[in-house]
Amino acid sequence: MKSLVCKVKGHRVNRRRVWHDKFDFRTNCDRCNASLIRDEVEGWREFDNDRDLLVDRMAHPKHA
Ligand SMILES: [Zn+2]
Repeated sequence: MKSLVCKVKGHRVNRRRVWHDKFDFRTNCDRCNASLIRDEVEGWREFDNDRDLLVDRMAHPKHA
């Protein structure tokens, strides 16, 4: 479920859940729970499977 607020204001980074997947920092949106990734250039943005799953990323430690 995408939040309308997120569409307008952008996602709300859940800083308590941030982890490093060996390549980038990751977390979820506090509001709509979308997967977020910290892009070196763009900053926090939504995780994009086509673009971001090309490398062997580590899952959140809680799922390990
Ligand atoms: Zn969101």
